[in-house]
Amino acid sequence: MFGMTSEHVPFLCPRGHRLGPGRVIVGWSPCGCPPCLERERGLRGHRTYLCLTCKDEHVTTMCYMPQHIPTPDTPYRWP
Ligand SMILES: [Zn+2]
Ligand SMILES: [Zn+2]
Repeated sequence: MFGMTSEHVPFLCPRGHRLGPGRVIVGWSPCGCPPCLERERGLRGHRTYLCLTCKDEHVTTMCYMPQHIPTPDTPYRWP
């Protein structure tokens, strides 16, 4: 886990790049996995962090906050 609160920005992408200003695109992904369902209505999803350094290398690396914990019937995503 990265941090103290669910809003904490991941400091490094999974490939070790620093997610500094201008190096990350923050987005939102609605989701129905267990950690999301514990949240309030309207907040059921993940904040997403797309690493632009990886994108420059033609790799898509996306972090999810809170951590995405898939159930057996949902597709796997990182982390
Ligand atoms: Zn990266
Ligand atoms: Zn999820």
